[in-house]
Amino acid sequence: MTDTSPFDLGGKVALITGANTGIGQGIAVALAAAGADVVLVGRSAMDETRALLAPHGTRVHEIRADLSSTAPLAGLVGETVATLGGLDILVNNAGIIRRADAVDYSEADWDAVMDTNLKSLFFLSQAAGRHMIAQGAGKIVNIASLLSFQGGIRIPAYTASKSGVAGLTRLLACEWAAKGVNVNAIAPGYFVTNNTEALRADPDRNGAILGRIPAGRWGKPAEIGGAAVFLASGASDYINGVVLPVDGGWLAR
Ligand code: NAP
Repeated sequence: MTDTSPFDLGGKVALITGANTGIGQGIAVALAAAGADVVLVGRSAMDETRALLAPHGTRVHEIRADLSSTAPLAGLVGETVATLGGLDILVNNAGIIRRADAVDYSEADWDAVMDTNLKSLFFLSQAAGRHMIAQGAGKIVNIASLLSFQGGIRIPAYTASKSGVAGLTRLLACEWAAKGVNVNAIAPGYFVTNNTEALRADPDRNGAILGRIPAGRWGKPAEIGGAAVFLASGASDYINGVVLPVDGGWLAR
């Protein structure tokens, strides 16, 4: 990539939550391939992601943090700035899913999903937003879902959280667009990750899902990378508050 490319991320620092596996890992690798230094945040070891990042030669910093509470969030921004000299891109990717029929859904599962998927996403965006507004520039990319558009079944808290992510993406875009901070989201369709293991293991659900995807296959985590680079780069400077599906055509059906 040339340094005149609007997709170039050279000199930028990106913080990605849930970067040890799945979609977060795919995004971290794509941002580094575009030139960004990356901060990998999560509760598990990042060894696999570090190995995938090594060929790209950008700086990598790892922060162990449990995002089910807001306690570590402000510290993540502070440590990123102190270690890598700035924070230009935040990717709010960490998320969980808990499945049960709505009539049986527990308050504990509701709180766990909402705390990680929505509350921590907001307060980490707030901490990053304060820094980005002060520097007059920044990119926030939230990982939403098809459940930001649709109802789904047996995942009430997940649907509420991801619908909330779409709403917050629009609200933050409205408040911060004029301050130089772009806030957008990506809505992944059905991707091969830990999050979808139970669905893929169920022959009926797997068949029904595949039968509806125009592309005829599950997505691979690396296939989110291009959309993430786009929304993290100057190429999207006049894009604010969109939720971009990357779904093999699911929503077009
Ligand atoms: P995944 O492989 O389960 O990854 C989820 C990531 O979030 C992992 O890195 C996980 O860390 C991290 N995480 C969860 N709870 C955390 C906590 N309390 N503190 C810190 N990190 C935490 O699933 P994925 O599919 O890649 O999910 C990534 C995002 O994409 C999620 O927001 C998910 O809702 C969204 N999404 C996925 C799909 C799909 O088809 N896969 C579709 C739409 C949206 P651990 O490995 O330590 O648990």
